[in-house]
Formats: sequence, C-alpha cells, structure tokens
Amino acid sequence: MNRTAATISIGDELLAGETLDSNARLLAGLLGEAGWRVKRHRVVGDDEPAIAAEIRDAAEHVGLVLVTGGLGPTADDLTRAALAAAMEEPLVKDRLAEETLEAFFAGRGYPMPEMNRSQAMRPESARCLPNAHGTAPGVAAMCAGTPVYLLPGPPHELKPMYEASVRPEIGDAVGTRTRELRSFGVGESLAAERIAELMNRDAEPVVGTTVSRSIVTARIRARNPKTTEAEIDAVANRVRAAWAPYIFGEGEDSLESVVGELLTERKSTLASAESCTGGLVAWMVTRIAGSSAWFRGGWVTYENRRKQEDLGVPAEILESTGAVSRETAIAMAHGARSRAGADYGVSTTGIAGPGGGTDDKPVGTVWIAVADARGESVRRFRFPGGRSGVRDRTAKAALQMIRFRLLEEETARLLWEEPLDG
Ligand code: AMP
Ligand code: MG
Repeated sequence: MNRTAATISIGDELLAGETLDSNARLLAGLLGEAGWRVKRHRVVGDDEPAIAAEIRDAAEHVGLVLVTGGLGPTADDLTRAALAAAMEEPLVKDRLAEETLEAFFAGRGYPMPEMNRSQAMRPESARCLPNAHGTAPGVAAMCAGTPVYLLPGPPHELKPMYEASVRPEIGDAVGTRTRELRSFGVGESLAAERIAELMNRDAEPVVGTTVSRSIVTARIRARNPKTTEAEIDAVANRVRAAWAPYIFGEGEDSLESVVGELLTERKSTLASAESCTGGLVAWMVTRIAGSSAWFRGGWVTYENRRKQEDLGVPAEILESTGAVSRETAIAMAHGARSRAGADYGVSTTGIAGPGGGTDDKPVGTVWIAVADARGESVRRFRFPGGRSGVRDRTAKAALQMIRFRLLEEETARLLWEEPLDG
C-alpha cells in the first residue's frame, strides 16, 4: 500500500510570512504517528486555479492529500471550488452542512450572514466533515483515485477534525515508532557522548538528540516494523541509565508537571520566592492544571525591603553578603516555606543582565535554594544566554533542584553550576 502523503497549506498570509505555517508541522507529526510518510509539502496562495492544479498534481503522486485553509466564508476562501475544479465536478450545496451552520448561528442568537452559506458547498461526490469548533465544515473526497481532505486553517479546529474524521479513515498502520526522553542539566554533547553507540546511524532502534530551550531530548526511533516494544524499552533504559538523574520525563512531560506529580505523591506543597525570575517559576507551575493542590503561592521580591518584610530575610544578611548570595537565597527559600505554610520553599536571586554585573558577580550569576524541614540545598550558577536565557534557565534549574531534593539525588552537578567555595 502506498502510504505516502502530501500536505498543502493555503493562504496569502502564509506566502507573505505573516502567519507561520504551523499546520504543516502539526500534520507531518500526526501523519508520521499514523504511519504515513509526508513526501511533499506545498504552500499556495488564495488563487483558485493554482490550488486546483496543486491538489490534482499531489493526488496523482501520493496516496493521501491533506489541504488546510481557505474554507472560510469570504471571497478569498477558494479551496472548495478549487477541489471541485480538480475533480471536474460541480459544487453542490450540502443540506445537512447548511442546517448545521444555521443551527450554529441560531445557538448564538443571531441570523446567519448570507456569505456563510458558501461554507456548505462541496464537490458533488464529496462528503462534508463536521466541525465541532467553528463554522467551516471539512470535506472528504476522492480525486484521481486518491483520498483528499480539506481541513480548516485554524489549528484548534484542524486538530480535532483530524482526530475525529480523518484519522479513523486513514488507519493506524505501524509506522515509525518513537519515544522521547527529556532531560535538563546535562550538556547535549556530553549527553550524546554517553550514548554514542546507540546513536550509530544503523542502530535499530536508533537514538538521536535534540536541544530546545535547554531541554535535551533523546528520541528513540524504531524504523523496522519487526522491532519489538521490548527492544525499544531496552534502549530507553540504557539512555535512562546513561543520563540519570537528569532525565525528568517522557513525551509531553515538563519539569513543572513532573515536580507536581512528585509533590502530589508525597502529599507535599511548594511555595516560591523569586527575585531575578520575576515570577517565572510560579508561572510555570501554575500552567499545570490542578497545581492548586500542591502550589501554595509565591512572592516576587525584587527590592531588598520586600525580601526583608515579605520573607523575613535579615537586614544583616542583605548588608553583609548582598541580595545575590548563598545566605540570601537560603533565607528567601525558608521565608517562603514558613510564611506560606508549605513543605518546600524555592528561591531564585541573581543578575539577569545586561547591566548590574561586577567582577565578583558577573551577569548570569544566580543562586537557587530549595528548603524543607530538614534544611536546604543551595547552588550557584553562571548561566549564559542574555536576560531571557538566564531567567529561563534559572527557572528550569530551580525546578530540577526541587525534583532532585524530592528524589534525594542531590549530588549530581547541573550544567552551568559553579563550585560553592570559589
Ligand atoms: P482560512 O481557513 O484560510 O480562513 O484560515 C483561517 C486562519 O487559520 C488563518 O487566518 C490563520 O490564522 C490560520 N491558518 C491557516 N492556515 C494556517 C497554517 N498553515 N498554519 C497555521 N495557521 C494557519
Ligand atoms: Mg485564508
């Protein structure tokens, strides 16, 4: 069976670079998971003959064509008409789609604009696909013997329609199977060196590494359908052993989601005291649904007086060691913990730059502490990456330090960490 696919993104805004063509990436991932190889991807403007020619050509070359965009009600939405032209069929009105559109507007309490009726049109032999999240129905058709699907442009409408109407029809053949292990605090080259033999290009399954915003991912990919799940597991375990304890999770896991799971298991709570990250740690943990069960709250204490009054950092410490110091970080973490009545307190204090650095404390110098009833862990870092890079790495390092403390894994050095004595 020919499991090759083509994707076509429609819209002048994509050609102009005003909108990033994220649908191409989304569909390539979804198709890959379902065992389809995307052989080509094209972007076409709002031009009916050009869209028709592209659909026809793609249908003659691959086994499946997915088109996104141009299904709206306005004059620049031409994909339905283009498909009809490619199929050499007339456009007809789909009664059910029209009723659904009328009901959509009635449900919102206003009459349907006349132009929306065009969205109920489809090539004669095609079917309409319901849209649970917008007005534009999708279309499924056969063109030159190849299934062609027209899907809405907005990603939040596209994805559910793909899952509900396309995926069940195109089948879940065994394709490339992948597993992703995510780590923080180990450099990519060192990490890769530790698993060099697994990364050999003819290894099966093969491992590759990528790094994105300081998260180093090991991607295990089985290309041979005969490779068993147990063989993939065995390779995953070897990567885990080589990268422990830096691997915090798999797939969709994030540092904050994993910290949340660990705190939940231990029925423990967290509070934050942030200076240089300005609330980034709190922002990250509160992105996790249900975090109110384990996150008590936090402080953004930028000024020294706030560190004293809000967190109880002693004035003597601030005077003698400065705000960016081991002692201040520790006092902030304990202050947050005790004032919020939490089991764990985390603090960040540092120099995010670009100004404010000294010989003693250059830009990127950050102290992070994690405190609990037993005491605290405290580390000093020198992060690269400019203001936003320093802040992002600080928040992630803070979350990894919380994880290490919860798992009693506190001896592992983190990337960019500096020895405590110097
Ligand atoms: P349309 O279906 O052409 O009316 O597209 C509606 C909206 O969907 C556009 O304004 C974009 O915001 C979004 N959109 C369309 N195509 C894409 C694409 N390839 N990638 C990301 N967003 C898109
Ligand atoms: Mg458009």
